[in-house]
Amino acid sequence: MLILGIETSCDETAAAVVASGRKVLADVVATQFDLHADYGGVVPELAARRHQENILPVIRAALKQANVTLREVQAIAVTQGPGLIGALVVGFAVAKSMAYALKVPLLGVHHLQAHIAAAFLGDAPPDFPFIALVVSGGHTNLYRVESFRQIILLGRSRDDAAGEAFDKVAKLLQLGYPGGVAIEKLSGQGDAQTFALPRPRIHHEPLTFSFSGLKTAVANVLKRNQDIIRTPQGVADLAASFQQAVVDSLVSRALLAVRRHDYPCLVVAGGVAANQRLRQELQAQTAAAGVKLFLPSLKLCTDNAAMVAAMGYHLLQAGETLDLRADVFARG
Ligand code: ATP
Ligand code: MG
Ligand code: FE
Repeated sequence: MLILGIETSCDETAAAVVASGRKVLADVVATQFDLHADYGGVVPELAARRHQENILPVIRAALKQANVTLREVQAIAVTQGPGLIGALVVGFAVAKSMAYALKVPLLGVHHLQAHIAAAFLGDAPPDFPFIALVVSGGHTNLYRVESFRQIILLGRSRDDAAGEAFDKVAKLLQLGYPGGVAIEKLSGQGDAQTFALPRPRIHHEPLTFSFSGLKTAVANVLKRNQDIIRTPQGVADLAASFQQAVVDSLVSRALLAVRRHDYPCLVVAGGVAANQRLRQELQAQTAAAGVKLFLPSLKLCTDNAAMVAAMGYHLLQAGETLDLRADVFARG
């Protein structure tokens, strides 16, 4: 079963060909970092226009990479939401037209569920049930996953998402956009013990995340010590201290959810799951707790269409195809 996946929810135009929800035959991602860098964040109108330019070349490149013709594609999976409406409709319109013209099923994929489905690509997928932490640019969500059709939210961030915090702190440290990778790189040269930053907890809501206070704490450190930004070591130490605070918040809650539900597996996905410090800490703590950890490869953590095709495959198995009159959604 060959599925073509299409993703245009934010600032990545992506297409992929995946066999039976498992084997990635092609995975093409065109990022728009250059386009939005000057603005320090994604500009929706510009993103939509760039998707329009890129979508067909990206799909053609994916088919070519997979050595697959259009006639061999058996279903089209596309991100339906959440995301930027103007960006989503570009991929969605193309997917609908292709499904109609090729007379194959159309599969509408929830972007966050696709991040989870990334863990099923490859030879050793997780077994249900498991706890999933989706930690990305727009979300920090903890789920109890009973099956592909039963994904129950346990906790989320009450303010900024973890990836958003990385991006905002990178801006404060003048590291450019997007900031996750820059902070990770710089943290390698810093000492995470240098600055005591908060690990905010919400009273009576142990599975709720909060990152805006942490961002403010970093801003306050910079305000009090104006020399830090002028010394590379100071910036590296602050980056490392911030990164460790985020990692501690994420890992402690993910493990708490696993313990509470007594589930044997933990899946961590989304762009921030590409962070090496987070991966190390998760590996160490799940090993100590006897929990099986599933982390998609770095390329499958950040936005891509292989995960969309994978989720689409599981929807198809469940008979959940989309009507051609369906529309995209921004939230939910
Ligand atoms: P969402 O999935 O919530 O709709 P998104 O699709 O924009 O948001 P992703 O592409 O999944 O998000 O992830 C992008 C985020 O991941 C950005 O905030 C980026 O800074 C962060 N990120 C990417 N790589 C790393 C890394 N190595 N360390 C920390 N953060 C990272
Ligand atoms: Mg993105
Ligand atoms: Fe994403």
